Parts: sequence; C-alpha cells; structure tokens
Amino acid sequence: MEIGKDPQVIVLYDGYSKDEGTSMLANCTCTLIKGRTNIVIDTMTSWDGDRLTEALYKNGINCNQIEFVICTHGHSDHIGCNYLFPKAVHIVGFCISQQYTYFYHDFQSGKEYVINDKVKVVPTPGHTLQDVSVIVETDDGVVAITGDLFEKEEDLRDDSIWKSAGSDSQELQIINRKKILDIADYIVPGHGPMFKVHK
Ligand SMILES: [Zn+2]
Repeated sequence: MEIGKDPQVIVLYDGYSKDEGTSMLANCTCTLIKGRTNIVIDTMTSWDGDRLTEALYKNGINCNQIEFVICTHGHSDHIGCNYLFPKAVHIVGFCISQQYTYFYHDFQSGKEYVINDKVKVVPTPGHTLQDVSVIVETDDGVVAITGDLFEKEEDLRDDSIWKSAGSDSQELQIINRKKILDIADYIVPGHGPMFKVHK
C-alpha cells in the first residue's frame, strides 16, 4: 500500500503475528518513506536482508541512498537489517547514532526529533518504555508509523491483542494510542497492514 507523493509512504512488507501454542510466528511491518529524505522504518529480522534490498531496488532505491533508519523499538524483529545502511543515521527507540557517535536527544521529556518539515519522530512509549513513532504529513493525510503501539488494525476493537503482544506500560500505551488516533489519518501498525483511521 502506498500513500502520498512527496513524501510517499510505501509499505514494503506487511508484518504478521500468529500464536503457535508454545511459540509465536512473527515479523514486523517494514516501511519506506521516499522523498526528499529517504527513510526505512523497522528492518525486520536478520534473515530478511535479501528481501529488503530487493524491495528497495524495486522502488528505485539502493541501501546507500537511505539517510535514516528508524526502529520503533529495539526488539529483534524490528532491527535485524540495520547493518544494510552504513550511510544512515540510526534511530532505535530513544537512541540516535551514526557508527560510533551517539547524539543527545531528550525523547524522555517528550521532545520530538524533526527530520524535515514533513517528517518527525515522536516518543510513544508503552509497548517498551522507549518506543517511538514516525509522523509523516503527505498530500493524502497524516500517516503514523507506530510499530507495536498498535499490533494490527483488529486491536482497535480488541485490547487483548496489543496487551498480549507485551506491554511494558499499559497505562502509557493507552495514552499514546489515543494521541496517535487523534492526529493520524492512516496508521502503519507493528504487525499488520496499514489501515485508515475512521474519525
Ligand atoms: Zn514487534
């Protein structure tokens, strides 16, 4: 699914999560923001390098053209292919770095990180205490790429879905889910396809 023109939000792979009894089968939703600043959000597992490179290539982008890699949080299914992007600034939850340099930024106090006038990173703790979401203003509306703040569209009607996916603070997660629902026209959740917010 694709939204907008410049910037354009392109979901490269829809994530999923399935309970298999004693284990869970899951991978995250992986998103490209294409425009003035090219950004990859949530890089799936370390086993997905070829698929990710291929999906970017199909969109006319090679790994060295990615300026920011943003992982909504630090779980292994959201950070696995960060190594593909050596030219990018990496934002993993509240941690911002490029190679060996770590940049100070006070996400903890609620401060947004502005990438350009259409794209910003905002703190949305809950699933982990250091979750971030990416807010993109497109000509088709505001898209929020939220990671596991929303597990999938179905969790709007059934709270047990996001709660059972793990929540370090259900209280904060409820507050930040509401905040995102208020501002977003579309949400890209952590483990499902992009969906429209019905106001
Ligand atoms: Zn996840």
